[in-house]
Parts: sequence; C-alpha cells; structure tokens
Amino acid sequence: MCGGVARWLRVLGVDATYTPGIEDGALVEHALAEGRVVLSSDGKLFERRVFTTGELRGLRLPVGLKLLEQLLFVVRALGLPVGFPRCTLCNGELRAVARAEVGDVVPARSLVWATEFYRCRLCGHVFWEGTHWRRIRAVRERIGSGTAHGEDGLTARDAFGENPS
Ligand SMILES: [Zn+2]
Repeated sequence: MCGGVARWLRVLGVDATYTPGIEDGALVEHALAEGRVVLSSDGKLFERRVFTTGELRGLRLPVGLKLLEQLLFVVRALGLPVGFPRCTLCNGELRAVARAEVGDVVPARSLVWATEFYRCRLCGHVFWEGTHWRRIRAVRERIGSGTAHGEDGLTARDAFGENPS
C-alpha cells in the first residue's frame, strides 16, 4: 500500500501497516498472517492465486486519484468508520498523557496553549493538538461526511509525522 494513504488511514484511526519496498511475496505473507486487506495500485499483484481464490482480500486503488480521493475510496470500499487517530509513524495506539509528562518533549510555546497530549504506546512519539491539528480535523470531518472536493494539496507529510506546529 502506498505510504501516504497508510499514514492518513492512521489519522482516521484505521489500523494500517506499510513497509516501504516490501516484496510481493512478503507482503502477501504478512497480510495473511495478520488477516489484513491489501491495498495497492498494482493490478498484477491481484492476479496472484491467493487473491483470485478469495483467500486474501485486496483492494485495487485506481490510479490518478489525489490523496484525499484515494482515502475516501478506501474508506467507502471497506466501510471503515472514522475512529480515534493512531500513531502516524508506527501505527501504534495513542494514549492521552498529562502536560507534565511531556514537558521535556513539547516546545514551550505549544506546551502553554495545547490542551491535549498523546503518546504512542509503541514508539513513544508525542503528539498534541497544535495548529496542524486543524487541518487534520478538517480532513477527518470531510472523510466522515464523504466529500473529497477541494483538498488538492494533501500530502503524506501533512499527517503530522513531525508535529510541525
Ligand atoms: Zn508510534
């Protein structure tokens, strides 16, 4: 699956794994082992027996779609609900943490005005609802209401990977 879509699916609370440059065989094994749906724009991949027999579920992403349109396509095709965001870096679950717990990680300015802080249970990365969060909230609402129009400049980086607030 493409990395940008994976990151944004995590923003939407979807459990999504992504391994850059993974071989098709390894991808299929991973998906089978974890009971996952494979997303790819590579039609050849879905000619494999494991897909044609229905043993593994795959969803072919149409080419030429913008990122938000791709997201909407996936969410609709799989009937995914928009849930609480997961870590965009590693797909781990986020838990709310107190301001005092993240004082050494969050810049002083953000520490003052941000009210919600989250730490990834897996990689420990800290997220907070900074200015960047407004964009994320807007995208989550758009996906939730099923409209993909007007968001042309969405990138994988927007999925608050580096907390650029
Ligand atoms: Zn993480």
